Amino acid sequence: MSPHQTKLLSRVGLFLGFVTLIAGASLFAFRFSLAMGLAELQVTGRHRLDLYATSLEREIDKYAYFSTTLGLERDVLQMLAAPHPTRTAQVNQYLEQLNERAGTLSIYVLDSKGKVLATSNWRRPDSFLGEDLSFRPYFRQAMETGSGRIFGIGTTRGEPGYYLASSLTNGQGTVGVAVVKVGLQQLEKSWVTAEAPVLVADENGVVILASVRDWKFTTLTPLDEATRRAFDRTQQYNRRALNPLGVVEMTALEHGARLVSLPKLGPEMVSMFPVAGKFLAQTQPLPGSPWSITVFSLQEQVRGMAANRAAVAGVGAAFLCILTLMLNERRRHLKDRLAAREALQQAHDELERKVVERTADLSAANTRLQVEVAERTRAERTLRAAQDELVQAGKLAVIGQLSSGIAHELNQPLAALRTLSGNARKFLARGDQQTADSNLNRIADLVDRMGRLTGQLKSFARKSSGRPQVVPLRRAVDNALFLLEQRLRRAGVVACIDLSDEELQAWCDANRLEQVLVNLAGNALDAMEGQPAQALDITARRQGERILIQVRDRGPGLSAQARTHLFEPFFTTKEAGSGLGLGLTISAGIVADFGGSLSGDNHPEGGAIFTLDIPAAPGGPTT
Ligand code: ADP
Repeated sequence: MSPHQTKLLSRVGLFLGFVTLIAGASLFAFRFSLAMGLAELQVTGRHRLDLYATSLEREIDKYAYFSTTLGLERDVLQMLAAPHPTRTAQVNQYLEQLNERAGTLSIYVLDSKGKVLATSNWRRPDSFLGEDLSFRPYFRQAMETGSGRIFGIGTTRGEPGYYLASSLTNGQGTVGVAVVKVGLQQLEKSWVTAEAPVLVADENGVVILASVRDWKFTTLTPLDEATRRAFDRTQQYNRRALNPLGVVEMTALEHGARLVSLPKLGPEMVSMFPVAGKFLAQTQPLPGSPWSITVFSLQEQVRGMAANRAAVAGVGAAFLCILTLMLNERRRHLKDRLAAREALQQAHDELERKVVERTADLSAANTRLQVEVAERTRAERTLRAAQDELVQAGKLAVIGQLSSGIAHELNQPLAALRTLSGNARKFLARGDQQTADSNLNRIADLVDRMGRLTGQLKSFARKSSGRPQVVPLRRAVDNALFLLEQRLRRAGVVACIDLSDEELQAWCDANRLEQVLVNLAGNALDAMEGQPAQALDITARRQGERILIQVRDRGPGLSAQARTHLFEPFFTTKEAGSGLGLGLTISAGIVADFGGSLSGDNHPEGGAIFTLDIPAAPGGPTT
């Protein structure tokens, strides 16, 4: 699995975890809050139940009192003991007044057989005066137990009400039954301030009293056919439809409380409070009767509250998740930053280590370089010394080549000196002072000339430093030619010197320049040896900061081979003993030392021409 997929998977996992947490927190809060709310609702419901039951009891007791007190009425007892129309009329009137005062539906007295002896409604055409009501359960109950309480619907007028019956007794026993029929509205008066739907069901589960009008004469549980037929027989509910209320019990709680749902019975139902939906139903028996009272407390508020709390818990959990996420993100961010810092530190350390290494390398390289430079300097110094030695050797070789000519040059004046000095002595002995004097003058000239030659030789042979300085060009050319004078004379060559400016000054070493010139002129003489027309031209001219010196001869010129290998050491075409092949190599080296160049070519008109390109002395005349 790729890191990207792993990351995605962990994200999805985290998201699912958060969703579960939020859902769990909400559910827990809902359940907890609902349980708490229902517990509170139970307490409130119980209080309501007590309150409504007590007020109903009080109301019923108030009317029940009438039937019992009738047993104390003398007229009533006398009428029962001996029925007489006058007495009956009296009792009828009494009951009529009482009924009016009490606001009840009817009050009547039955004899022990169940026949109506007197009644409050004696005036009305539908009065049940004289009717046999022994089949009515309240009569039987009163006869048997002393009192009877029953809900019923009147057989004559079909008016529902509560029959509160009390047996009437005299000294001989039960003589009759007094009955008060109370209207529904009268009993329900006690519930005008009820805050929740409340109902009273009789022993058959039929709703006989309810704060909701439409609930009346419904049943809490569906009736079977046998029960229905029994009701028809007693006409207790006067053949009312007795449809089920439709209470659906969902959960049974402790203390007999139930969570129920009530259906919407119809759009016409108008009530102070909701009568359909989810309720908490609480039931308790009504004391002194087989009836039970039930209060319905609406769960809506509790559920709403629980939903609100669940939402708050959900939001809280979500907030907690976001906070966790943020903290986690921050922690990761910090971790990343720490890692980045560590990486940076590592990189820095690495860099520093490399810098140290490189510095060490560099210093080692530097040391090596210094050593190399020192070695090279030493080598260069050695090379220079070797070069100097080579130059010197070359010069000595030139001197060697010149030596026979020089020896000849010295021998001639020496011989002349011997002759002249001998003659001078003779002339002095003869007293020819004048001729002797002239001879002595010639001797002096010859000695001067010899001295110049040896002086020149000595100066040429000297080991020069090679350090550049101002060199008058004319003198250098003259000195070189002076050394070659003997050879020139022998070859019958007159050197033709053409310096565009007699004052030309080069920036070089005079001694070495003379050496180069002697070399070039010597080569020229060598090349021209045996040639019919010999000539040696030495020209010089200034070109900007440079001086170009050319040495041209009328020899055979440079062969193709010579032109290729001219400046290579030991290249020579001369016979063994005549040349070493080092002259031009050394000369080129000397000129390069001056910062110049030496090149050789053939002149278009024949002969070889060598060109020296050397720096002019600074500040000199320019052309
Ligand atoms: P070397 O004179 O000892 O031979 P150089 O280096 O002076 O050595 O000369 C090398 C060769 O160059 C000579 O042997 C010769 O063949 C050729 N050369 C030098 N100068 C001339 C010249 N002026 N004319 C013809 N050939 C020349």
